[in-house]
Amino acid sequence: MTNEEKKKRNFYENDLCDLCKSSEETVMHVLRDCTIARQELRGPLASVLQFFQEDMNGVEKLRESLSC
Ligand SMILES: [Zn+2]
Repeated sequence: MTNEEKKKRNFYENDLCDLCKSSEETVMHVLRDCTIARQELRGPLASVLQFFQEDMNGVEKLRESLSC
């Protein structure tokens, strides 16, 4: 194996997704296609969404109290 081939092979291995190791790690893969990344993101994302939802309820209550 030539050094160039080793380098290419190494690069290819490093280019694999760290999480699922079954696909090339591209931005689209990590954000959309990687099942493991999605599982790991679901937790934090859910709490962010919940925060905004609670915040919206707060805004609604504020609006209600101001409208009377
Ligand atoms: Zn992946």
